[in-house]
Amino acid sequence: MSCKVVLAQGISVSYREELKNTIKARNICPKLVGFLANEDPAAAKYAEWTAKTCAETGVEFELRKCSRNDLEDKIVEANQDAGVHGIMVYYPVFGDRQDQYLQNVVDVSKDVEGLHHKYVYNMYHNIRFLDEAKTKKCIIPCTPLGLVKVMEYVGVYNGILPHGNRLHGRVVTIINRSEIVGRPLAALLANDGAKVYSVDINGIQEFHRGVGLQLKKHEVSETTLTVEDVLPLSDVVITGVPSPSYKVPSHLIRDGAVCINFSTFKNFDGDEIKKKASIYVPAVGKVTVAMLERNLVRLYDYQAQDRAS
Ligand code: NAD
Repeated sequence: MSCKVVLAQGISVSYREELKNTIKARNICPKLVGFLANEDPAAAKYAEWTAKTCAETGVEFELRKCSRNDLEDKIVEANQDAGVHGIMVYYPVFGDRQDQYLQNVVDVSKDVEGLHHKYVYNMYHNIRFLDEAKTKKCIIPCTPLGLVKVMEYVGVYNGILPHGNRLHGRVVTIINRSEIVGRPLAALLANDGAKVYSVDINGIQEFHRGVGLQLKKHEVSETTLTVEDVLPLSDVVITGVPSPSYKVPSHLIRDGAVCINFSTFKNFDGDEIKKKASIYVPAVGKVTVAMLERNLVRLYDYQAQDRAS
């Protein structure tokens, strides 16, 4: 078996080191507030990692627990507090459209997760800066951004090509089309030039920028293809199915594919996938947290820029 298993810990090291050095050299103390208003053990685990990584890098992290009915007021309070530079919420809270509403209650200038409508809109429309002078990069949702960084690290992005086209020629299957991860990720990768098969429980959509990348931003088309059709075509398979019983059928994976799991559950059969994949990334959580902190430092700087102008 020649499969290389790549761990999120190793991928995130350079980002964490860079954050630590920047924060120390500039003698700044960005503050992140995380709101926990559910009993989800996965959210508690994520909060634990956030606290640990923040302590290592010099970010001040405060976990605020509250009832879901108090959450909106608590977010507004943090929005108005100049001592808070970034806000995040551990979702799901209500598990319905109210969560989408709460994502927009977080002030855009403090939204480290990049879930505010403005960032989501800009991402889908391939608008990369917040200002005309192009001094402020848009915040990208941290799990999709973390997955992009994983793909850069393992060499799926081709550095010879110009930025924005570095996935030209790559075929990627993403099994998950949630609004938090799967759909934004499909858009980001297609905007960077990939042909993406986005799989959910109801079917498959194709995200792409056309032959020769003639489109400026991605387009989505419906397909009648099945998982059996798209997996053997894919250079990269990314999965995030929130179920302990779901397994990606290893026999359909292309020999030498890159396989990445972001679900809390093991969506790949570890032994079987190592017989087929060239690179296997079993989890990405630590990279997500590093991206969260990177977004925080960016927002800290934008807030300072706004105060100075
Ligand atoms: P979700 O429930 O909102 O979405 C699940 C998606 O998977 C949907 O698109 C659904 O249609 C699809 N799906 C479910 N069963 C399927 C099947 N059998 N075949 C094809 N598609 C199927 O969940 P979510 O918020 O996107 O989270 C998914 C998983 O990712 C969870 O385990 C969550 O904990 C994890 N997660 C990890 C990170 C991280 O940074 N590691 C971040 C966010 C979420």
